[in-house]
This record gives sequence, C-alpha cells and structure tokens, in this order.
Amino acid sequence: MENTRRLRVLADPLHREDATVRRAFDAWHRQVRIPQVRYIAFLTALMYLLYAAVEQSVATDLQAPRLLAHAVLVPGLLLVVAAMSFRARLQRPMWALLMVAPVIANGANLYLNTGSPQFLVFAPEIYLSIMWTFAISGLPLRQASMAALAIVVLVIAAAFRNAMPGELIQLHLLWVLAAFSFGGMSAFILEKAHKHTFLQQRQLARSAQIDELTSLWNRAHIERLFEEERARAERYGQPFSVILVDIDHFKAVNDTWGHSAGDAVLRQFAELLRQNLREVDAIGRIGGEEFFVLLPQTPVAQAQLVASGLQARINAFDFETVGRRTASFGVTEYRPGESRVDTFDRADQALYAAKENGRDRIEVR
Ligand code: GH3
Ligand code: MG
Ligand code: MG
Repeated sequence: MENTRRLRVLADPLHREDATVRRAFDAWHRQVRIPQVRYIAFLTALMYLLYAAVEQSVATDLQAPRLLAHAVLVPGLLLVVAAMSFRARLQRPMWALLMVAPVIANGANLYLNTGSPQFLVFAPEIYLSIMWTFAISGLPLRQASMAALAIVVLVIAAAFRNAMPGELIQLHLLWVLAAFSFGGMSAFILEKAHKHTFLQQRQLARSAQIDELTSLWNRAHIERLFEEERARAERYGQPFSVILVDIDHFKAVNDTWGHSAGDAVLRQFAELLRQNLREVDAIGRIGGEEFFVLLPQTPVAQAQLVASGLQARINAFDFETVGRRTASFGVTEYRPGESRVDTFDRADQALYAAKENGRDRIEVR
C-alpha cells in the first residue's frame, strides 16, 4: 500500500497535492511552454514547405493532393498555431490545434503513400512526428499521448488494410514502437522534472513570505503589503491603520516553561489574531513575540476598537500550560505623504508608551 503510493509519487510528484495545485501547475506549465510551441510550430511549418518542394521530384503520383497537404494544410495549421500563441484568449484552441496537426499530417502521409512501393521512403515522417509530438511540440504529456496514440492507431489500421509483406510490417511497427516509447519516455521525464521545479518554486515563494512558526506573513512580506496599501491610500485617499502587538513578559514564559511552551503560545496567539480579524486584514509576525496587523480602509478610531476587541479575546484566552497572558498594543493611522518607516516608528512609539504605562494597554499615536 505504502509502496504503491511511493511509486505513484515517484511517477507523479504532484500525486499528493490537491486539485488547485495541479491546476496551478497546468496553467504554469502551459505558460512556460508557449514560446516553445510558437517557435517549433513555425519551424515545422517551414520544414513542411520544404518537404512539399522536394517531394514533387520524388513522388510522381498524387501531385496535387501532396501539394495540398504539405504546402497548404499542415503548414497552414502550424502557422495558425504559432499566430494563436500570441493571444492569451486563443490559447485553448491553440492547444487543440497543436494536438490535431500531427494526426492530420500522418493521416495525409498514410493516405498518400501506403501501398505504394515508395512507402518506406515516406515512413520516417511517421516515426519522426511521433517523437515530435511527444518531445518537441510543447504539448503536455497527456495531450501528446492522445495525439501519438491516434497516430499509432492510424498506422496500424493502414498497415493491415494495405497488406504489406509480413517482414516489412514487422520492421515498420518496430520503428513506430521505438518512436512511441522513446518519445513517451522523454515527455514523461521532462514533465516530471517540470513538476519538481514547480513545487520547488512554490515552496521557495512561500517560505520567502511566511513565518514558519506561526504561518503568518513574515516581516519582509508584511512590509510589501504595507507598501501596496500605501500606494492604494495615496491613489484613492482612503485611510488605513496599523496595530503593533507585543506579548507582555514573554521572556518569563520561556524562562518558566521552556522554549517549546513559548513557541506554542506564539502559535496560539497567532491563531487568536487570525480568528478575530477580517479576511482583508494582513497579519504578520515581525519579531520574536511582536505582531503587526494591517487594517485596510480603517480610520484610527476604528482600529482602536479592533485593538480593544483583540485585547479582550487575548485576556480571556487560556493558553496551553501557561494560562492567562496579556499583550500591549500600539495603534496608528497612515498619514498621507509619509514613508513606511514613519508609520512603523509611530506605531513603535505607541507600543513603547503602552509598555511604559504598565502593559496590557492600548496606546494610540
Ligand atoms: P515586555 O513585556 O517588555 O515585552 O517583555 P518581554 O519579556 O515580552 O520582552 P523581551 O523583549 O524582554 O523578551 C522577548 C522574549 O521572546 C525573548 C526571547 O527569548 C523570546 N523569543 C523571541 N523569539 C522567540 C521564539 O520564536 N520562540 C520563543 N519561544 N521565544 C522567543
Ligand atoms: Mg514582549
Ligand atoms: Mg518584543
């Protein structure tokens, strides 16, 4: 049981992730492949034009359908794919066309050449395009597999319909099998590597923003959020406020019950803040036992009420092992034109005053 699960994760690094992560991967993965699709589709279209020109002197039959397929239909489809790649809105049909293009190209090949003595000269297009579909086109593994499978079905159907000599069929199918397995394997390995990269990037982006202990925002990220709010306030003239919260006599918690009890208090404290603030408020841990709350669209009088509410919740809460705790609050409103440091300094002064004036207090500056 555990072994099959491990095997699955080995095959698919996103196996354990939920649907939103997998959707995020799909979106990201398609996005990073867009330039590849664009250049490959364009290059392949040129190759087909060249093919159409060279082919006219090799194959003497079916000249018109050959021209139609290799100078018009297939390169036309691929150029449309390349053009669509420039428009975000057209990317869905672009992927669909990219899947269909190699199937049509191979359908044309089989129609034009099976049964003719020249077939073996034209067969490499099939092997190459199976590899192309998997490893070169830019299609995600699932779509590439469906397209390649459709090609294989066409090939097998054509091979049996136009009775080829047995040994030739065997050799032909061997090359098809080789192209399918090499192509499939390389697409699989590539997609797996992309999934790893995606998960690593997500993890890095997360840990650059989050405080590991409490899962609140860290200082750097709360500063970024503050700057965004400041820009909004400057543009729309809406007030916003901040609250600086520091647990009182926290050192005594560590000294009496140990560091891990202290950590547990910090986690519960963070949870209290989270539960008693709005979704739009941003909460960060910006120092050891110091927390920062950003209240968008909130004038200072309202922020003071918010702080009172928090104070009441904190004072009434029974922290694991250590019991009741208090905290001190510094509240201030952003003043238009000032810098982040100005606001933070004023909140700091307010907090300092709350400590000076006996703790378990709210001071406003
Ligand atoms: P005050 O009421 O003046 O704020 O006193 P205090 O003891 O809360 O403040 P002080 O700044 O003297 O001490 C803060 C303590 O927080 C000291 C440090 O060991 C502890 N601390 C800082 N970060 C962490 C942490 O991540 N986990 C734990 N358990 N303790 C921490
Ligand atoms: Mg403290
Ligand atoms: Mg402190």
